[in-house]
Amino acid sequence: MNLKENALKVLEARYLARNEKGELIETPEEMFWRVARAIALAEKNYDEKADVEQIAKEFYTLMTELDFLPNTPTLVNAGRPLGQLSACFVLPVGDSMEEIFDAVKFSALIHKSGGGTGFSFSRLRSKGSRVRSTGGVASGPVSFMKVFNAATEAVKQGGVRRGANMGVLRCDHPDILEFITAKEDNKDITNFNISVALTEKFMKALEEDGEYELIEPSTGEIVKKLKAREVFDKIAQNAWRNGEPGIIFIDRINEGNMVPDLGQIESTNPCGEQPLLPYESCNLGSVNLANMVKGQEIDWEHLEKTVKLAVRFLDNVIDVNHYPLKEIENMTKKTRKIGLGVMGFADMLIKLNVPYDSEEALQIADKVMEFINDKSKEASAELAKIRGTFSAWEKSLWAKRGLKLRNATTTTIAPTGSISIIAGVSSGIEPIFALAFKRHILDRKDIVEVHEIFEQHAKDNGYYSEKLMEEVAKTGRVSGVTGVPKEAQRLFVTALDISPEWHVRMQAVFQKHTDNAVSKTINMPNSATVKDVKESYLLAYKLGCKGLTVYRDGSREEQVLNAGLTE
Ligand code: ADP
Repeated sequence: MNLKENALKVLEARYLARNEKGELIETPEEMFWRVARAIALAEKNYDEKADVEQIAKEFYTLMTELDFLPNTPTLVNAGRPLGQLSACFVLPVGDSMEEIFDAVKFSALIHKSGGGTGFSFSRLRSKGSRVRSTGGVASGPVSFMKVFNAATEAVKQGGVRRGANMGVLRCDHPDILEFITAKEDNKDITNFNISVALTEKFMKALEEDGEYELIEPSTGEIVKKLKAREVFDKIAQNAWRNGEPGIIFIDRINEGNMVPDLGQIESTNPCGEQPLLPYESCNLGSVNLANMVKGQEIDWEHLEKTVKLAVRFLDNVIDVNHYPLKEIENMTKKTRKIGLGVMGFADMLIKLNVPYDSEEALQIADKVMEFINDKSKEASAELAKIRGTFSAWEKSLWAKRGLKLRNATTTTIAPTGSISIIAGVSSGIEPIFALAFKRHILDRKDIVEVHEIFEQHAKDNGYYSEKLMEEVAKTGRVSGVTGVPKEAQRLFVTALDISPEWHVRMQAVFQKHTDNAVSKTINMPNSATVKDVKESYLLAYKLGCKGLTVYRDGSREEQVLNAGLTE
């Protein structure tokens, strides 16, 4: 297999199986065989005589060529005792002690197995409202989020990876202002991303510079009115300060709810790309677009084959998955949602010689994602013929359209934070973050790591030198670096060189052809203003995005990714 050094490191640290003594007991190839065989077993459910070994081989090749990878829990747990394969879950949080602490317990079970959980706290009665059974007053959504946070913290130690949560609160909840600032000091709610669910009513009030109503969830009473603009400003200010909260357009998300008969969507998974019904889970997987270029053209035939086999793979995952709860198994099998997305999009553009922030790049995104979405539906329809539709199909909007599908959704754009490292490509649909950076290695000289395609380009075009690469490593960027030809400066544009507007436009193009949502960070330079944040929100709304996350460079002490000098 053609794995890069970082891929090997990540695999060794977190993916490859170990024995009780903690010693490695498999190679990457053996890991991919383990996964391929476990997932291929599902074929027996539909055809007793299915050649499982043959399909396992196809899955093995699909993964070892790095054309497609499933989400982390599938790679870690398939064919192993835990057997929990999904990255995303949403759990309901009802307005009673039993329901709240059930959700805490269920999320602990999910975190242990490497999944992430999303919750809406919108059903909880507001802070200060009455608790009938005790005569006391309720402590409200934000205080309960701290309980979920503490449980997550404790489970971290023994789990597959540190747990991740999404906490959502509707903008019309009486505690919304407290929620917006809940992460201001970033001390108590460290294991959560938070998002405000904005309604159409809110957006209308914002447009008209009017007020909107806050509703007490336990009684349905209107308790107060707020100026939409003031709430919007507060969200933008906090997001400007440290990236939180994000926003989701909850009514728009529900317009995309293909089975409204089963309930309303209230929340997404932790990184925002997967809206789900309460108790639903979803498994994700991503096609590596960097592998879909032949010469300087997109290899459509190879892409089609990859998408179709990937859909079959992900549908199989639903059958062989070990679910942490019976309710989750039932709900998941009613809709059989899968989320096929992409990684290596920025690398693909570079191979096609197209800068990320260009009209041509938007057109490529449009064509590629439309193709993936269409082919994934074709594949799901083909599976439906043999395996049957998802069980809630008759009640779904697909039935109204007369389209028999195996899966209520087929596409999601995940961040691919870890699997893109395994594939050695740019993550999700994000532009390249840094072209070179210095890695500090104990007792050795710092080494400069250079983006592979950039290094090759520099060598092919005669501008490579170690000194120049060190220069690039200072900021991670090539814009304005003398010695890098203008054309290369344009092609190797990095996240912080790209204006927020282009980031949003790219997200919107992908959203157009994605059933679920799109994970994307709207990177802003440190000098960006609160007004810039608001403009991005409004543009995202106008262009049909389902939510938005902005991040201003340097606005958090602990930044996961640092351009330029790191470690
Ligand atoms: P990967 O590359 O590991 O497959 P992604 O970065 O694409 O994962 O994230 C996909 C989803 O996986 C997230 O939205 C979240 O639901 C879940 N997830 C990611 N990181 C974690 C984590 N540390 N703990 C629990 N769940 C996670």
